Amino acid sequence: KAKEQRGSLSFFSDDLTTAVRRRLELEQRLRRALERKELCLYYQPQWSIDGAEMTGVEALIRWQDPERGMIPPVEFIPVAEQSILIGMIGRWVLHEASAQIAAWQRQGLAVPRVAVNVSPQQLRYHYLPDEVAEVLEQTGIAPDLLELELTESALMAPGQDTEKMLNALRALGVRLAIDDFGTGYSSLAYLKRFPLDLLKIDKSFTDDLLESSQARAIVETIIVLGHKLGLGVLAEGVEYEAQRCELERLGCHQFQGYLKSRPLSVVELEALLAAD
Ligand code: C2E
Ligand code: CA
Ligand code: CA
Ligand code: CA
Repeated sequence: KAKEQRGSLSFFSDDLTTAVRRRLELEQRLRRALERKELCLYYQPQWSIDGAEMTGVEALIRWQDPERGMIPPVEFIPVAEQSILIGMIGRWVLHEASAQIAAWQRQGLAVPRVAVNVSPQQLRYHYLPDEVAEVLEQTGIAPDLLELELTESALMAPGQDTEKMLNALRALGVRLAIDDFGTGYSSLAYLKRFPLDLLKIDKSFTDDLLESSQARAIVETIIVLGHKLGLGVLAEGVEYEAQRCELERLGCHQFQGYLKSRPLSVVELEALLAAD
């Protein structure tokens, strides 16, 4: 009996060891990637709902691994979030995006507002207003060119004074958006307490907008909510003209999606900015 137990225990811990080893390995490679500057930002344009005007861009991280090629964020951000790496990455993204804005300004390009994704851990374990203030000072950019995308779960995390932190960020002049709106666990009460600028309707709702009356009802409600609270509303993941058209009819302000542009490299975006 004892032997059997020991056997199953060691089987179990072997499995665990493999998972842990793989995670540590990825962590180590990621740490090296950060040092070797193998991380970069792509920028996906955001458009006024009629598609006539670029209203901003969202910075999306990529890992350019010399051996494995381009690694998407879903493959390394969740791992980074389980270690202190996410703090380092978050800080790097904030700095890189702001430095890019400054560089575009020097080049005389029409600089779009840049939205940056903030992970819940970054909000929780680093005092974000200090990091943002530091980056603004280092790069000298206008604060309203920077938008922070926060998720509902990050805002709802217990044990932090979120309201105070958001007010400090607002005082710096940066814009605040709620990412993946409608998918997290949160109460609507925070919408009136927090100083917010934009609701981003999650792609899952956009996907079903034309097929499901429930998804449609949710999208419609988010748009009305945004209007009544004086917040901008942006729909994510718009792939078809029929979706854009319906969103426009419902009064949505902005959209982002493959319909008009995928995330672009700096060179590709600069070509687009210079074209108009
Ligand atoms: P997200 O913030 O919801 O970003 C939107 C994702 O949807 C991006 O994927 C984007 O490329 C993709 N997307 C945009 N339009 C369309 C469309 O029309 N169709 C389809 N199928 N996809 C579309 P990506 O770049 O792979 O990023 C995935 C997630 O990784 C992001 O989701 C975000 O949660 C996270 N992420 C990306 N960059 C960062 C970062 O710098 N920091 C942190 N903490 N997370 C990041
Ligand atoms: Ca986002
Ligand atoms: Ca999103
Ligand atoms: Ca998402």
